[in-house]
Amino acid sequence: MSQFFAKRFQTLTPYTPGEQPADMEQFIKLNTNESPYAPSPQVFAAMDRGAIGDLRLYSDPTCQQFLKALAGEFGVDENMVMAGSGSDELLGYAFAAFGQNGVAFPNITYGFYSVLTDLFALEVQKVPLNCDCSVKISAYEGKKGMVVLANPNAPTGIYLPLDDVETLLQQDENRLVLIDEAYVDFGSESAVCLLKTYKNLVVIGTFSKSRNLAGARLGYAVANAELIAELNTLKFSFDPYNVNTLTLLAGAAALADKRYFTACTQSIIETREFVCNELKSMGFEMTKSAANFVFCAPLSPLSAQVYYKKLRENGILVRWFDTPEISHYVRITIGTKKQMEEVLGVTKMILDEKAL
Ligand SMILES: *Cc1c(COP(=O)(O)O)cnc(C)c1O
Repeated sequence: MSQFFAKRFQTLTPYTPGEQPADMEQFIKLNTNESPYAPSPQVFAAMDRGAIGDLRLYSDPTCQQFLKALAGEFGVDENMVMAGSGSDELLGYAFAAFGQNGVAFPNITYGFYSVLTDLFALEVQKVPLNCDCSVKISAYEGKKGMVVLANPNAPTGIYLPLDDVETLLQQDENRLVLIDEAYVDFGSESAVCLLKTYKNLVVIGTFSKSRNLAGARLGYAVANAELIAELNTLKFSFDPYNVNTLTLLAGAAALADKRYFTACTQSIIETREFVCNELKSMGFEMTKSAANFVFCAPLSPLSAQVYYKKLRENGILVRWFDTPEISHYVRITIGTKKQMEEVLGVTKMILDEKAL
């Protein structure tokens, strides 16, 4: 540790991203919930020489064109949306802006939330999930500060119905609820419609998963105009040009291609259901996923850690979390049908080995 590093950061444990192997060809990569499909052909078309030439200029700090399209998509006013360099950046602004009375979230959820509460030195309350891994709504009654839920949750994939989100909003109208909808497009309902009724709601989403643009880094926030203005106060105090020119174009092009979006997300949903049925028939237990991954536990005596290692030896990367409550699960991103058939084949082989 150098003498220059601020004391308050010396004990930070940063987020551990899923592995991005240098030699990707070697692996079927199902460990970071990326899309197996290329961005929309309209995104390719938008990345022309003119767009590259425009890199000479700063990107539009108001992200106007993109936000106009996004507001249209959600049916809200343009002052109710904001763009970020990935949703992670917007989560950062939201935690910094609204977390001063502490932040409550499930004990099992997206790992970045506790990194952010550490970074900004916010008081954190981790609320245990129900035994079936669903979010325990009643446990948030009386909790002060901001409530943060990934919906569907990560890494469980379980979707909390909007009625329950509404209950959370009603528990205390002076308490903010942030819903992180990174996986909402794989078969569940967005909370954006609740913004008409509730002023204590922020919805955050991303183009990384369902829009096939993880490497472009594009996220968004939707909330009432006052909250968005406050998030913008932080953005303009930290990184006014937070979304680059090519990414803004890519985002608008991806939004415009509704058919491609629907085809990709539908195909992921179908493949997910196929994989769930196959894994169940091999004795796996799993949560009911509404996301682009399955969270599954192999049948004893095969441990999740050994299953993870054996998949890796066979060129398949999935995610295993060394966290006691969920260490008997692995999280497998849904790839193409062909990739998933390979996973199922290798899994069968691993199970047969174990039976010997
Ligand atoms: C993937 C993910 C994100 C991060 O998305 P980016 O837009 O790529 O930063 C946010 N929240 C959850 C729950 C995620 O799984």
